[in-house]
Amino acid sequence: MSVLVFAENWEGKFKKPAQEALTYGYELAQKTGGPLCAVVIGHNIQGDEINKLGAYGCPKVLSAIAPAFASFSANIYATVIADAAKKENATHIVFSHTYTGKSVAPRVAVKLQAGLAAGAVSLPSSPEPFIVRKKCFSGKGFTDVQISSPVKIVSLSPNSHHVFAAGEHKAADFKIEEFNPALPASDTTVNEVKKTSGKVVLTEAEIVVSGGRGLKGPENWGMVEALADALGAATACSKPVADMGWRPHHEHVGQTGITIAPNLYIAIGISGAIQHLAGVSSSKVMVAINTDKEAPFFQAADYGIIGDAFDVVPKLTEAIKQLKSAH
Ligand SMILES: Cc1cc2nc3c(=O)[nH]c(=O)nc-3n(C[C@H](O)[C@H](O)[C@H](O)COP(=O)(O)OP(=O)(O)OC[C@H]3O[C@@H](n4cnc5c(N)ncnc54)[C@H](O)[C@@H]3O)c2cc1C
Repeated sequence: MSVLVFAENWEGKFKKPAQEALTYGYELAQKTGGPLCAVVIGHNIQGDEINKLGAYGCPKVLSAIAPAFASFSANIYATVIADAAKKENATHIVFSHTYTGKSVAPRVAVKLQAGLAAGAVSLPSSPEPFIVRKKCFSGKGFTDVQISSPVKIVSLSPNSHHVFAAGEHKAADFKIEEFNPALPASDTTVNEVKKTSGKVVLTEAEIVVSGGRGLKGPENWGMVEALADALGAATACSKPVADMGWRPHHEHVGQTGITIAPNLYIAIGISGAIQHLAGVSSSKVMVAINTDKEAPFFQAADYGIIGDAFDVVPKLTEAIKQLKSAH
C-alpha cells in the first residue's frame, strides 16, 4: 500500500493546505504501512522550496516543473497526478479540498476508477474497511463514508487536520525525482487572473472577520479591515453584501458561498440566517457583534457582544493593538 500526496503550491510556495495534506499523508502511511511520496506541479517552484517537503516526513517527491503548468488546467493536473499514482502504485491519494483539489480530485478518481471522499475531516480508523468522516449538508453535518475501490482518494477539508511542526518528522532519506509525463492538450484557456496579493487567503485563514448588512455601506468597511489587520485575519461577508457589490463575491461565505472553518470567526452586523451559518458553523470559536439581542447569531455564537458595531469594533481593534504591542 502506497500513499501519494498532491502537495499544492501557491506561486511556488507550499502553504498550510500542503502541510496539512502531507501531515495527513504521513499518518495515513503509518496506518497502512506503505511508503509515502508527494507530487508537485508548477512552473516556478525552486528546489529549496521542494526540499522543505522533507521536513513533513515525505521521503520522495515527484517534481513536474514545466512552462506548460504556468496556467492551471484541471485536466492536465489530473493527468499528471494519475500518472504519478500509477508510477508509484499508489493505493491512497491525498488532496487538499481547495479550489484546485475540488476540480482535480474527481477527475483523478475517474481516471483511476477510484472512490473519492471529498471534504474529509478524519483519518480512517483502520486501512480496511477504509472509512473516513466527511462534511455534508454545507458543513451542518458529518457522514462516515466507506471507500471500497482498490485506489482510494481523500480530499482533506482545510483547517480540519493538525500540521506537524517543520522538522518534527523529518525524512531521513529525501529525494526529488523529475517527473515528465506526456500531457494532453489543455481543454481550458485562462483569460484573466485576479490576484488578492498581500491579503490572508480566506479558506486558509486561522481568523476571519466578516461583515453583514448591519455595516450600512461599503464606505464603512475600513473598520472591518482594520480589525482584520490587527488580528492578521482574512475578511469575509454575508451574501447580500456581495450581491449589493459592497464586497467582492469571493468573500461571500455561506450555503451559496465559501465554506470556512477558521479557529475564530467574528461576525459583525450579520443576523445569523441559517444559510449564512451553513458556511461558517465549523469555526472553532464564533463571536457575534449585533445591536439586536434577539439576532439568531447569538444562538450559534460562543461569545456575543450586544452593541453598535460602529462603537464596538474600533474599541476592539484598539484593544487588540495594545495587547499585541504589550507582548
Ligand atoms: C437559497 C438561499 C441561499 C442563501 N445563501 C446565503 C449565503 O451563502 N450566505 C449568506 O450570508 N446568506 C445567504 N442567504 C441569505 C440569508 O438568508 C440572509 O438573508 C443573509 O445572510 C442576511 O445577511 P445579513 O445578516 O448581512 O443581513 P440582515 O439579515 O439584514 O442582518 C443585518 C444584521 O445587522 C444587525 N445590525 C444592524 N445595524 C447594526 C449595527 N450598527 N451594529 C451591529 N449590528 C447591526 C441587525 O440587527 C441584523 O441582525 C441565502 C438565502 C437563500 C434563500
